[in-house]
Amino acid sequence: MLSSMSQRRPHKPSKSCYFCGRTGNITEEHAWPRWLGRGADVEPTQTTRTLGFSRVSLEAYSEAPTREVTKQGSVLTTRLRQVCRNCNGGWMSQLEEAVRPVFERMWEPEYPLGFTALSPREIGVLAAWAVKTAWVREQVGSGSSTPTPEMRRTFTADRVPPAFTSVWAARHTGQSNFGVYVLQVEARHQDRPLDGRESRNVLVCSLTFRGISLLVRTDDGWGVPRMTPPGDRWAQVWPSTGGVAWPPPQSASDDDLLEVVGRISHWMSVPELPKFHRHPGGVVRIRRN
Ligand SMILES: [Zn+2]
Repeated sequence: MLSSMSQRRPHKPSKSCYFCGRTGNITEEHAWPRWLGRGADVEPTQTTRTLGFSRVSLEAYSEAPTREVTKQGSVLTTRLRQVCRNCNGGWMSQLEEAVRPVFERMWEPEYPLGFTALSPREIGVLAAWAVKTAWVREQVGSGSSTPTPEMRRTFTADRVPPAFTSVWAARHTGQSNFGVYVLQVEARHQDRPLDGRESRNVLVCSLTFRGISLLVRTDDGWGVPRMTPPGDRWAQVWPSTGGVAWPPPQSASDDDLLEVVGRISHWMSVPELPKFHRHPGGVVRIRRN
């Protein structure tokens, strides 16, 4: 059983490539690829929320203050200055090219049979792109990384989402466009160490753009309960079950996004329905230039 959770401390940023770990030739990777935002009507700020929770007793959770960091400047020009030229101009640029036709299919307003089927190859590309973008967004927004250097190096080599990583996709109807939620959780186990280490880190990140929401969860090891976003809104993309029927029957709203990234009590609850104490201070808002 998971017995306590707390907001974690950020790791120190390094000067080596975020993905392959090599030093030198560091370039900048756009957090949102430029092609995706071309012609989009977007407000010139970006907001990243970091939410924290603690398990305070067997049946109760306590919410840490929600940190909401708003940065000035277009969300479309935010960059991660921690990616090498080989990665940026190589596999990352190939991934952008490969995912475009997949999004173009997913953006179509309707399909002859009422839905379209994404092939295993398209699912692999979509999942890899979602994982790459969510990890970059976490690093840009919080300065810390849930995936370990080893997980990032392996992903760089094979572009397959690692174990304990899941991806879902939804059609989105709402105000959010190029909106990102980042949830970082540290889960602790008091009775015995999890695999010799003391805690697990979990990232849940939603990426919403042009009527699509992608939801990515990455754990840095086994043992943290799974989450199951409502299947009528969220299609499971990864782990792959062979094919994805797109779109799901219902669209996800702005509230649905907050529900999946803002309330971990569904999937962390052991036993069912713990008490959930909201933080009285509300959201801590920070503005950075
Ligand atoms: Zn690299």
